[in-house]
Amino acid sequence: MEGLINCKNPRCITSIEKDIVHRFVLLDKEEGSYRCDYCDHIYTWEGGLKKMIIDKLYNEVEKKGNVCVGLDTKLDYVPQWLKEKYQDIDEIIFQFNKRIIDST
Ligand SMILES: [Zn+2]
Repeated sequence: MEGLINCKNPRCITSIEKDIVHRFVLLDKEEGSYRCDYCDHIYTWEGGLKKMIIDKLYNEVEKKGNVCVGLDTKLDYVPQWLKEKYQDIDEIIFQFNKRIIDST
């Protein structure tokens, strides 16, 4: 696994070299323990790893300015009747996303 998590060891090369790709080796999937590929520092994240990935995802979303995660709406997916009902593109996409959210 690469790039998703950062090594917290201040003496680790990934903390010193900025442009290096963080690499971790999965030791125990059940425990959620990982070993840094560079300094052999072992981490046990338990629920924390998932949270870190979600935080990363939120950061990505913030950068791109999308409000709805996973709702990458393309106008092609919107049914024709919806396009005809609402003139405004934003309104069409809002209504379309609303239907996805309502039906999940
Ligand atoms: Zn490390």
